[in-house]
Amino acid sequence: MNRDQLAQDIINTCIEMNKLGLNQGTAGNVSARYKEGMLITPSGIPYEKLVPEQIVYVTNEGQFESDKIPSSEWLFHLAYYKARSDINAVVHNHAVNSTAVSILNKPIPAIHYMVAASGAAEIPCVPYATFGSKPLADFVQQGAKQSKAILLQHHGMIAGEQNLEKALWLAHEVEVLAELYLKVMAITEQPKILDTGEMATVLEKFKTYGLKVSEDRPS
Ligand SMILES: [Zn+2]
Repeated sequence: MNRDQLAQDIINTCIEMNKLGLNQGTAGNVSARYKEGMLITPSGIPYEKLVPEQIVYVTNEGQFESDKIPSSEWLFHLAYYKARSDINAVVHNHAVNSTAVSILNKPIPAIHYMVAASGAAEIPCVPYATFGSKPLADFVQQGAKQSKAILLQHHGMIAGEQNLEKALWLAHEVEVLAELYLKVMAITEQPKILDTGEMATVLEKFKTYGLKVSEDRPS
């Protein structure tokens, strides 16, 4: 896929993310692996006003085009790609329910089998560090090795997948699970969770299940 087309897909993903209610304003950001680095949304431009030329190319070494400023979170997007070779797209936002669970500083446990969509038996919550910082990127890199989706303490969530469509789907799924978790936690702080044997079975099934997208984005 050429750069303009991938950049347009990133913009479309941002707009779709807002429509899904996962994000307001420009708090979130989206990237896709491209050549020896990634394409990522720029800092502080409303998604509806974005054009492909404004999407920023950042190399794996953290170099970017001098006339553009990438999202302040570009470091943790790169960290995701470094952590996992199976991920080609990353979606980040401050969705309300996911962020609420992150404030409780809890992972989303196996309250529902769909947690396995993350590729892990629970969705971890990585420790707090200042947005845009190297320590936060380091926490994200560790978390991404455990799960395709993670919560960021006092901040929000990240979901990575093979392509943009799948990454947005996973981000939405995480938000639904977070909402479910909060509802259950309002009744009992120790909800029953699926045991590790069952989650292992579901994780195995998930290797061939999930959103079917005809075209996988190239790396
Ligand atoms: Zn953020």
